[in-house]
Amino acid sequence: MSDDDDGEIEFVFMGPGECELCKSMVGTVSDSPIEPLHPNCNCKSVPRTKCNNQYRSNWRTTRYGPGGNCYRVDAEIAVICHDGTLIGESREIDMGCEDSGDELADLEMAIGEFASGLEAGCPDCPPPLVS
Ligand SMILES: [Zn+2]
Ligand SMILES: [Zn+2]
Repeated sequence: MSDDDDGEIEFVFMGPGECELCKSMVGTVSDSPIEPLHPNCNCKSVPRTKCNNQYRSNWRTTRYGPGGNCYRVDAEIAVICHDGTLIGESREIDMGCEDSGDELADLEMAIGEFASGLEAGCPDCPPPLVS
C-alpha cells in the first residue's frame, strides 16, 4: 500500500453472462483485463477507478486492574476513502482483562472493526468508466 494509489484502474467483469460460467464471473474484479472465458464469449471487463478504502491508526495502551491484566486503548483512526475523503475519529476501546495470548492481534482486530464501521461513511465506489 502506498500513498499514490489514486487513479489506479481495476477491471470489472460485466457479462452479459450468456452461460453459467460467465454468469458466475459477473462482478469479478481484477487488476488486469479479464479475457473472454471461452470462444464466442461476448462478455467483457471494463475499467474503473480502483476503489480501495484504507485506514491508518495510532494508539496508546493504558493498563489497569489487578496486576495490570486489563487494558484499554485510546485509538485514533483515520480512514482514507477511495476518493480521498478522510474520516477520522478517536475511540477508546476497552479490551477487557482476558489475556488471549496475542494482544496485538486482538487490538488490530478491534481497530479493524472500528475502521470498517467508519468506512461505511465513505462514498460508494464509482461506477465503471464505460457502461
Ligand atoms: Zn459464456
Ligand atoms: Zn461470456
